[in-house]
Amino acid sequence: MLLYSTKHQSPDVNLEEAIFRGLPADNGLYMPYSIPKMSPEFFKNIENMTISEIAYEVSKVLIGDEISDDDLKMIVDRAINFEAPLVEIEKDTYVLELFHGTSMAFKDFGARFMASIMSYYLQKSQKEIHILVATSGDTGGAVAQGFYKTTGIKVTILYPSGKVSDIQEKQLTTLGENVTALEVEGTFDDCQRLVKSAFLDEELRSKFNLASANSINISRLIPQSFYYFNAYAQLRRLGVDKPIVFSVPSGNFGNLSAGLIAMQMGLPLKSFIAATNVNNVVPKYLASGQYEPVRSLETISNAMDVGNPSNFPRMCLLGGETFEEISSVIFGDSSNDDETRETMKKIFDKTNYVMCPHTAVAYRGLEAYREQEVGDSVGVFLSTAHYAKFLDVVEETLDTKVPIPTRLSDLLEKEKVSIKISDTFEDFKEYLLSL
Ligand SMILES: *Cc1c(COP(=O)(O)O)cnc(C)c1O
Repeated sequence: MLLYSTKHQSPDVNLEEAIFRGLPADNGLYMPYSIPKMSPEFFKNIENMTISEIAYEVSKVLIGDEISDDDLKMIVDRAINFEAPLVEIEKDTYVLELFHGTSMAFKDFGARFMASIMSYYLQKSQKEIHILVATSGDTGGAVAQGFYKTTGIKVTILYPSGKVSDIQEKQLTTLGENVTALEVEGTFDDCQRLVKSAFLDEELRSKFNLASANSINISRLIPQSFYYFNAYAQLRRLGVDKPIVFSVPSGNFGNLSAGLIAMQMGLPLKSFIAATNVNNVVPKYLASGQYEPVRSLETISNAMDVGNPSNFPRMCLLGGETFEEISSVIFGDSSNDDETRETMKKIFDKTNYVMCPHTAVAYRGLEAYREQEVGDSVGVFLSTAHYAKFLDVVEETLDTKVPIPTRLSDLLEKEKVSIKISDTFEDFKEYLLSL
């Protein structure tokens, strides 16, 4: 798999280099030169395949012969070891539940695959790396759980003190082993600044093999294409053969970009819906052709509070050759917090299904699409997190108590272990040098 930088100022790299560098030096994004198509036999057989079988076949075609078949199977099997079921909510409307992994958010797909493939390469080269991640909530949980006890990898997670939910904090601070949580007296932006400064610091760089696990890493994108194929397989098993529309609740647009990869690989579908909260620069772009990044606004679907989505260039490259093509494949819609809450309540009253705010934004995107678009289709909206991760908003909106899965309630009983630091780089550096 040969990858180039979208800014064209950095050299081409193979997959291993793209994964460990994360970002090309010219600040572009790594993109594969070509995206091969899945074979007709694959699609003929797909309804008899499990999610890990689909994941293996898709990654084999995408990655090519850089990794042997046996090794790739091992990498995939230890990462994609949970289901992504499709649940019918109403006639022709399905929710794709992506929250059955360890941290109960869809980011588990990316984080677990990244940990698995990194540890494969590290074992071969006998190297060790130290991963630094800043988190505002969900990313840190998925990365902490995904890399937990992975040989050759130490993880330091920085989170803003008092600014993540109880469950999210416990997901970061109760693991131990190779995972350390730094509780920063500051904001998420401060955490990000500290991580960036560390990557630029000569002394730290010479002492540690630093790596990042953020969402622009190509190894987080690849596994997110698997579940689109798997959703299709489930629809086929149900005998559904209408054109498929996927509604994707979006922030940095990694999830939607992965869906476009699946489309480029031949997955038959009609449209995507780019569903956002009021941070709607992409829906605005799809309507006007103008891309104008802004500062992000806070919402109840806070994992999507992004004003300048990092995967936007990838989304455009994967969506088509021209703006006309892109905007004919992707339909944009945005919801404010009131509309999000109304949707959560409406679906709960009608069907008893409890959804997190991000999922509700996706459902509304599908509704908006159907108001505009004629023609029969089956709608699949992606549920990116379990509702219990956003318990306060959910219980307040639905005006009732909702059950919490034992995996999350057990976590609340555990003792938090974190190291408090100030928001100055001196403190952070001193901590790292003491390791
Ligand atoms: C990260 C996240 C999103 C946004 O996904 P992107 O790939 O950044 O567009 C949506 N919902 C939840 C719950 C998330 O954690």
